[in-house]
Amino acid sequence: MTARIDIPAIPVVKAPQTAEVLASLPVLSDAERAALVARIKRLLEEQDAVLIAHYYVDAEIQRLAEETGGYVSDSLDMARFGHEHPARTLVIAGVRFMGETAKILNPEKRVLMPTLEAECSLDLSCPAAEFVPFCDAHPDHTVVVYSNTSAEVKARADYVVTSSIAVKLVDHLRKQGKKILWAPDKHLGAYINSVTGADMLIWPGSCVVHDAFKADALAALKKERPGAAVLVHPESPAAVIALADAVGSTTQLIEAAKRLPNKEFIVATDSGIFYKMQQAAPEKTFLEAPTAGKGPSCMACAHCPWMAMNSLARVAVALETGANEIHVEEEIRRKALRATQRMLDFAKTLKAPVLGDA
Ligand code: SF4
Repeated sequence: MTARIDIPAIPVVKAPQTAEVLASLPVLSDAERAALVARIKRLLEEQDAVLIAHYYVDAEIQRLAEETGGYVSDSLDMARFGHEHPARTLVIAGVRFMGETAKILNPEKRVLMPTLEAECSLDLSCPAAEFVPFCDAHPDHTVVVYSNTSAEVKARADYVVTSSIAVKLVDHLRKQGKKILWAPDKHLGAYINSVTGADMLIWPGSCVVHDAFKADALAALKKERPGAAVLVHPESPAAVIALADAVGSTTQLIEAAKRLPNKEFIVATDSGIFYKMQQAAPEKTFLEAPTAGKGPSCMACAHCPWMAMNSLARVAVALETGANEIHVEEEIRRKALRATQRMLDFAKTLKAPVLGDA
């Protein structure tokens, strides 16, 4: 069964340049950085707060989360950790949909973010105002959305999935004879379709970081480094996935870096993940997969411009002022939780972890 992409025109997402975002952040001396870290540690205690970071944010923030009893992971696992942690305030260092996911699972807690300007091209390319009528026009399809979506889009879905469980869930639905409406990532949708053969309508969104990886340049780099294994996140184009030794979610790629015998890895996902990969396999070497210097978000990097907006200074200000609190309207939250819970219930039947997003 082939996938079909016959969707209304979607918004053109204009991503900021990662280099410009990074250049706009103040440069700190070692003494200033140490003072800022001490200030955040004090504020976390005073505010009964815990810092929870995504794999793609700056290594300093990931390190501070770990040092202060917080956590580093993907969006759903971040929300799960926040749910199990006794702190009353969750500081979510990542992008906006991650703060919303934390709020969906933890309505009784205060959820703060370092900045509300940190968006995601997948989320932006799938506005509820266009997505909901499209779903309504296809009532014979089961709506399955990726975790990188707004609370409103999750609320319209039958299932919310992470990248680690998407293939299994879609295959399960295929066996029940269901047709799937998948959103928002076209590459992940095409990958799921290639593995499952499900009848899928695929929304044409993409991640500005993963979309920029180039298969030709990757093939050339593989030739130069014949001993290196290639790790690819399935938000990447099909031609890049075809060159992979391992395809998987962020957590699955970290596990592959540990498990595979290779000493060197070429990694096609956001370079923020190198902090945890290096921690998991300190004796191994990690190289960025090439973007050929022509990505929409950066000239020669594999780093999300919105993730780059998270900074230690912004973590401190959010804690000090209570700025950037996430609110999700209760009816939307309840529906989004229901679609998320369906995935969690399905995972239980498989006894499978549900880790993984961009
Ligand atoms: S890396 Fe891509 S999927 Fe992840 S937050 Fe950035 S734009 Fe979204």
